[in-house]
Amino acid sequence: MTYRAGRHFLQIPGPTNVPDRVLRAMDLPTIDHRGPEFAALGKEVLAGLRRVFGTTGAAVVFPSSGTGAWEAALVNTLSPGDRVLMFETGHFAALWREMAGRLGLKVDFVPGDWRRGVDPQEVEARLRADPDGGIKAVCVVHNETSTGVTTRIDAVREAVNRSGHPALLMVDTISSLGSIDYRHDDWGVDVTVAGSQKGLMLPPGLGFNAIGPKALKASETAGLPRSYWSWAAMLAPNAQGFFPYTPATNLLYGLREALAMLEAEGLDRVFARHRRHGEATRAAVRAWGLELLCAEPRAYSDSLTAAMVPDGQDADRLREIALDRFDMSLGTGLGRLAGRVFRIGHLGDFNDLMLAGTLAGVEMALSLSGIPFRKGGVQAALDCLSEAQRSGVSLAKTG
Ligand SMILES: *Cc1c(COP(=O)(O)O)cnc(C)c1O
Repeated sequence: MTYRAGRHFLQIPGPTNVPDRVLRAMDLPTIDHRGPEFAALGKEVLAGLRRVFGTTGAAVVFPSSGTGAWEAALVNTLSPGDRVLMFETGHFAALWREMAGRLGLKVDFVPGDWRRGVDPQEVEARLRADPDGGIKAVCVVHNETSTGVTTRIDAVREAVNRSGHPALLMVDTISSLGSIDYRHDDWGVDVTVAGSQKGLMLPPGLGFNAIGPKALKASETAGLPRSYWSWAAMLAPNAQGFFPYTPATNLLYGLREALAMLEAEGLDRVFARHRRHGEATRAAVRAWGLELLCAEPRAYSDSLTAAMVPDGQDADRLREIALDRFDMSLGTGLGRLAGRVFRIGHLGDFNDLMLAGTLAGVEMALSLSGIPFRKGGVQAALDCLSEAQRSGVSLAKTG
């Protein structure tokens, strides 16, 4: 491999660019995970995580990818043969559904076209059609990373409430926690699933659950077998800051740093920054004359954008050019979207100029690809960013 000067642009929607501060924070000796220094670290990161989830309840950390945290959510709360209601919002929803099936759950999978979020009315109708309470959980992906579509979790909660159905509400926030507004307690979510390598700016390797009281109660009687993923086994030592098995200590150092960064910026500002980058990216895609995959404006994702290429064109060819010529990784089309879309990740440790560079790389790659498009996407994004900065000046000064 020849040397490539400058920084690689890792603009897939996770893993995201890990800030130098986080990398340096992890560059420490691993300590005794049964000693007092570790206990302080454990308590600090668990408290910080609860604030990011927006919960005063329990949060747990597994040494796993996000997929492990999916599994933990299901096996701690459900029993073999239980029915769960899931929605085909995209590739990740489909993977979670497959996992549920393999674990012996019966999935009611509501079909979707991968272009919109979960319809709260559909949630309500499905639950009303189940007066005997056969459905034990409703599982929703907050931000579909394969499509760039966000579901309104507060509206889903209200739909569950209106139906009067007792099912648990479980939400995958793997690509939204720390980048799109999310409130575990306020929205009455029972289990929230997250991972380290997207909005939380860490390398891959940590999976998280936030656990509400109703889910905790369900875990006392849930019959699916579990051992490594057991909340009870985790929560007991967590009370003193410890873990039931060797934790990923150095990733926890990184987590402590990432949480400090999010708190210093302020979650509201973090969300506003992602909103601004989402809007600017969508302005670029429109100016290029490409179609956004997300078909519902209120469901636009602020952490990534999926753009469609015209029929007969290959989005992966564009990604190859971006990587080869400009040292930038863009997200591929997953599952049935293979070759049809490319995804621009704009989440995590990211600023206006990084976005400008990213979009410049996409526009140059489009020029080289032969895909029909109009120039001017970068300019449209820059206009959008400078307008946002102009109206945000007073906020920055008073804050
Ligand atoms: C990335 C992602 C996953 C899978 O997480 P892994 O860490 O790859 O196991 C699941 N759901 C969503 C929404 C994701 O973005």
